Amino acid sequence: MKIDILTVLPELLESPFAHSILKRAKEKKLLEVNVHNLRQWAVNEHGQIDDYQYGGGAGMVMMCEPLAKAIEVLSKEKKFDEIIYMTPDGELFNQKMANQLSLKENMLIICGHYKGIDERIRQQFVTKEISIGDYVLSGGELPAAILVDAIGRIIPGVLNDETSALFDSFQDNLLAPPVYTRPADFREMKVPDVLLSGDPKKVDEWRNEQSLQRTKERRPDLLND
Ligand code: SAH
Repeated sequence: MKIDILTVLPELLESPFAHSILKRAKEKKLLEVNVHNLRQWAVNEHGQIDDYQYGGGAGMVMMCEPLAKAIEVLSKEKKFDEIIYMTPDGELFNQKMANQLSLKENMLIICGHYKGIDERIRQQFVTKEISIGDYVLSGGELPAAILVDAIGRIIPGVLNDETSALFDSFQDNLLAPPVYTRPADFREMKVPDVLLSGDPKKVDEWRNEQSLQRTKERRPDLLND
């Protein structure tokens, strides 16, 4: 999968993909992330990419020309399956969406700033608008990093233990069961016996029960889906 990201703050996206699972995904050539500085398509030599909003009011708006040029130039190199704009008024991101997006080949993600991007870019070029939650951040870079992380880790072949993502929270609309590691007895708090039983069937049953119970208690809404 190839993901291109358009941003005015490429520095913010240097570290998130350079470690752990996403680093491995890149090394295995399963994921390529290219970050582009939108200012290379600025409207003048001052690097301008934003302007005052029509109708007045506080806050700048990201201009059409730099974004349109950037999208057109990058679209010549590859055909994007999705052109995504990160925005608080987009569709709420969840595991199901991550699963679907993990099957795409090429995606372009636009990070907004200030008041956001000119509406005409959204109408003309953007194919999907995604929010990472009902709160407002100062820019689309952290949301984009979250999107790439959630998608990148489930690209087939990225995780070493192929099955492990299947048991994470939200797959099958269930939260994950509790997990334990050594020691078996920590300050008189013991690991549940069943996990030490060596009986994989019993362990599976226990985990399923725990998942269900946890979901009922904490996120009953998931069970109605
Ligand atoms: N005025 C806009 C918010 C702009 S915030 C509004 O009220 O909807 C600036 C940028 O940060 C946005 O363009 C978007 O790219 C990003 N952003 C902020 N919160 C976000 C969220 N919850 N999900 C996705 N992107 C978000």
